[in-house]
Amino acid sequence: MKNIIFFLLTFSVFFTGCKLKESKQQEPKLIVGIVIDQMRYDYLTRFSDRYSENGFKRLLKNGFSIENAYYNLIPTYTAVGHASIYTGTTPDNHGIISNNWYDKFLKKTIYCVDDDIYRTVGNNSDAGKKSPSRMYTTTVTDQLHLAQNMNGKTIGIAIKDRSAILPAGHTANAAYWFHGKQKGQWISSNFYMENLPNWVTDFNNSDKANNYLKTPWNTLYDINTYTNSIIDNNLFEGKFKGETATSFPHDIPNLKVTNGNFDILKGIPAGNSFTADFAKAAILGENLGKSEFTDFLAVSFSSTDYIGHQFGPASKEIEDTYLRLDKDIADLLSFLDKQIGKNKYTVFLTADHAAVDVPAYLQSLKIPAHYFDIQKFKQSALEITKKYFNSIELIENISNYQIFLNKQKIESLGLDKNKVADKLVEEILNFEGIYKAVTARTLQTTRFFDGIMNSLQNGYNQKISGDVMMIPYPATLIRGRTGTSHGSGYSYDTHIPLIFYGNGIKKGVSKSKYEIIDIAPTIANLLRIEAPNSSTGKIITEALK
Ligand code: ZN
Repeated sequence: MKNIIFFLLTFSVFFTGCKLKESKQQEPKLIVGIVIDQMRYDYLTRFSDRYSENGFKRLLKNGFSIENAYYNLIPTYTAVGHASIYTGTTPDNHGIISNNWYDKFLKKTIYCVDDDIYRTVGNNSDAGKKSPSRMYTTTVTDQLHLAQNMNGKTIGIAIKDRSAILPAGHTANAAYWFHGKQKGQWISSNFYMENLPNWVTDFNNSDKANNYLKTPWNTLYDINTYTNSIIDNNLFEGKFKGETATSFPHDIPNLKVTNGNFDILKGIPAGNSFTADFAKAAILGENLGKSEFTDFLAVSFSSTDYIGHQFGPASKEIEDTYLRLDKDIADLLSFLDKQIGKNKYTVFLTADHAAVDVPAYLQSLKIPAHYFDIQKFKQSALEITKKYFNSIELIENISNYQIFLNKQKIESLGLDKNKVADKLVEEILNFEGIYKAVTARTLQTTRFFDGIMNSLQNGYNQKISGDVMMIPYPATLIRGRTGTSHGSGYSYDTHIPLIFYGNGIKKGVSKSKYEIIDIAPTIANLLRIEAPNSSTGKIITEALK
């Protein structure tokens, strides 16, 4: 009998052990989150003929592509996008309501990741005084750390500070971003560390950044074969400072000094290659994917956004940028194969927002498009309060299509805040360019279940947002008539690529509608860990094995 019990015990311990070991082995050694700044969904299809088999197409053919993935929030800006991807929720919960916003408690405009408590690590500038502390919720990277008792490494990398800091979360081992100016270095904040690791210092001491600025930006292939974009020299694109035309080639070596020295690297395709180089150095330097735990590398390619802003989605420059980025992606994937091992890592690729065609270009095609005159609007809003409440001090700030009321002034004049807000909503609809407007009170008391009002509501944070929220017409920008931007809840800004690939991911395509907030809970489920603490997204079950 004793022997039998002993046998059974050994047997069960043996099998439980096997099962545990087996489940551990199935998990990816490394998650690589790739965010491409300002990538529209249609860049996957429009330039597809010229993409290699090893870049975007490798992800599309062997991974799971969500063709109908959308941002369900306003405003579609970089910080908001990155925070929403990684927290699995919208600004009403995570608190990153824009890149910059008016802080009604501090009575000043703040930047999403500024934090004076901290100092720069890597040089003597102020560019590293940053932290993710304005983000109120956890990220999937935080959850991975919590699930592994702080084992495993989570690292964020991007040319833009906010695109490295927010994805890496509150418990990140490191976030690195690019400081251009005279030297061109990757830096960090002492929120993460006291000194840069040797591999970062070595990278900064290498001549890589400089080497990328030694040649003009010319097209990868003969420019006459670029058939998925409009004529190169046109009225809708911006110039580098010192250029006389917007067309190729862009003489980077000679434009460098007038365009902020190493800062020019941010705005050319080489900035993406340079980011990929640094990501690879991080994988080697930190031995990512080599321990018994799962590591997380959050890398964001920012140059696509700078180029998009300057030249617009229809430009030859954007076509060239994506053909080159395809090569960077291919190269990064083959590096992961070698370094981590095929099928031992999982990738997701998405964007932090998309972009509208240059409104002046749309107008030239008779498509309705607008430029919003913010100075005129501010004047007009003051005239409204003067006319109805006999004061020009009732508005504290107007930014991000939000009006912040001066509550102290309103109270001191014995006025009703709700009446002031209601009157503004009623009257500003007469202003050219404002299409819809709603008070914060309406957003607090009414639930919008879909469409653009739902996106506005998801972007409205009761604690920190303004008192009146506005929506302009489709294809409206506040800027000059060259180049483009983003920020709206319309499809051109919200429809983005979303591809999962690698360990734990099925091959396939879905045409069902998903939201950006679904990424974090899906990755959490893949890792069998808890989703971020305020996640409102759902698991994309059809993408998972
Ligand atoms: Zn962006």
